[in-house]
Amino acid sequence: MRIAEIFHSIQGEGALVGVPSVFVRTSGCNLRCAWCDTPYTSWRPEGGDWSLERILEAAAVYPARHVVLTGGEPMIARGIVELSRGLRRGGRHLTIETAGTVFEAVECDLMSISPKLANSTPEGEWGERHERLRIQVDTLRRLMAAYEHQLKFVLARPEDADELCRLVRTLDADPARVVLMPEGVETGVLLKRGAWLAEICKREGFRFSPRLHVELYGNRRGT
Ligand code: SF4
Repeated sequence: MRIAEIFHSIQGEGALVGVPSVFVRTSGCNLRCAWCDTPYTSWRPEGGDWSLERILEAAAVYPARHVVLTGGEPMIARGIVELSRGLRRGGRHLTIETAGTVFEAVECDLMSISPKLANSTPEGEWGERHERLRIQVDTLRRLMAAYEHQLKFVLARPEDADELCRLVRTLDADPARVVLMPEGVETGVLLKRGAWLAEICKREGFRFSPRLHVELYGNRRGT
């Protein structure tokens, strides 16, 4: 399996924000978000081919009880089902971060599903493919039915709320499981966008999520 990095940090987003966690980041993605904050796993995928044993050993070095399997898109990584099983051993809590376009029968304690809104679609040759793939309603329904989950959305402008509210209604999702985050990798931009985002959360009953890792460490790899 191609691994971009394994590191120990603080969960910066979503329901478990603030929880010390080991991050296992696979490389490779079926989407190409215009604002992707890990282009080294999507636009220009990096990383070596790791065996399952080596990944589990590297993750076990850290004392954290929580593990986050992220990417890229971990659900397209070869051996993801076995890796999910291995990472949960010993009673560790596993979150899987996915865009929700692919279903695999993985094991996890929290399926963190982040469907990509139209603000993610890039210009150029990837645009049409990304646009076609980014929302897979049947797959989203399947993931939501099978796992404890949250639905995490990245908003770049207030108008994005229209698309996300339509999708939440289509999925008949519980607003309490819907988490909104501002798009951006600079604290100033996040604060500015957070102001109108908070109003949408208040109006719709969604949860607001900061991007704590950006505030703590800046937009740096391995954090
Ligand atoms: S789905 Fe995630 S990893 Fe893939 S391009 Fe979008 S932001 Fe990057």
